[in-house]
Amino acid sequence: GEVVALPNIQPDRLQYTKTEKPRTPPPSKSLVFGHTFTDHMLTIPWSSLEGWGAPKIEPYGPLSLEPSSTVLHYAQTIFEGMKAYRDEHGNVTLFRPDMNMKRMNTSAARVALPTFDSDALLQLIKKLIHFERDWIPKEPGHSLYIRPTMIGTQKFIGIAPPSEALLFVICSPVGPYYPDGFKPIALYGTTEYIRAAPGGTGAYKLGVNYAPGVMPQKHAAQLGYTQNLWLHGPEHYLTEVGTMNLFVVLKKGDAIELVTPPLDGMILPGVTRDSVLSLARNHVSGNYKLPNLPNLIVSERPITMNEVQEAETSGNLVELFGSGTAAIITPVNRIGYLGKDIHIPTGEDGMGPVSRPIWTELVGRQMGSIPSEWSVPV
Ligand code: PMP
Repeated sequence: GEVVALPNIQPDRLQYTKTEKPRTPPPSKSLVFGHTFTDHMLTIPWSSLEGWGAPKIEPYGPLSLEPSSTVLHYAQTIFEGMKAYRDEHGNVTLFRPDMNMKRMNTSAARVALPTFDSDALLQLIKKLIHFERDWIPKEPGHSLYIRPTMIGTQKFIGIAPPSEALLFVICSPVGPYYPDGFKPIALYGTTEYIRAAPGGTGAYKLGVNYAPGVMPQKHAAQLGYTQNLWLHGPEHYLTEVGTMNLFVVLKKGDAIELVTPPLDGMILPGVTRDSVLSLARNHVSGNYKLPNLPNLIVSERPITMNEVQEAETSGNLVELFGSGTAAIITPVNRIGYLGKDIHIPTGEDGMGPVSRPIWTELVGRQMGSIPSEWSVPV
């Protein structure tokens, strides 16, 4: 028969229902990450027979799901995390949102949820942020965290691509991750549990990657560490830190090397990771020099715990940090590994010679003090 294209996401079909009980955003000082939600949410239904249905912006509230919904049994759920900033000029902006839309489509495809037109969803997310703009805290370092999510909603006990799905977007005002300046964290080099494996799902933002990390995280906390350092294989390759990507800075003779593990299928392709690499590479090529950043060798390559340990012993371990949307850069000062602690230098402000100038540039671009194409007006 004839193949008829089903409708993609259609921003011009948006229906808007304003809440009858608008709330007052809480004082910015009292915000705890991820606990407060704004008045409205965006929902877009999908079915295999009708494609994407009319988008709605409606009051934030409970979803109605049957207990047989596939998401509740087989973890058919994917998500994204991005931030809207109120920049220094009062403009509301997103940071590289095209990358989140692309990653969400990649995640959807990996668990056989429907893919969608990235530009159309981004248009609708911008509309939602515009409606919720009074919820974006004005204080520096604050933002509106945006959580696009998609779940399989088919009423069916069985493992197959769901014939029904729901895409929704909720928003949460957040303060700075480190309100009192950078606090370096201690990692537990985890050898009992893994986060990802070759051929697995580590490179996708699937709900199923996160629930199994909670118990190991509790275990690390009991031992006095903040986060798991996820390792791979008998060589103990470093992969990621909790829910952040990982960077190691090493002295190599007269040179300094910035190392991050390659996107080998086990690593989430972080937007912040890509931004750090891009800034570092443009600095090296001379296209865009960063003030106070030393010259670097930039390497996406495997790195083992043995190499980190030897760098500590020889005094060549310069710094180690995590990167992610929530905290941007998180310095690490200690790794517990096979019963001993590896100590990592941190500067007076907690940051190191590479992370500090890169953090300054990233925050400048997010807050609008440094104009860049990465900052997208809402
Ligand atoms: N790794 C994992 C496992 C994550 O959940 C995240 C947060 N999305 C990151 C890395 C960092 O990615 P991004 O810079 O896009 O926030």
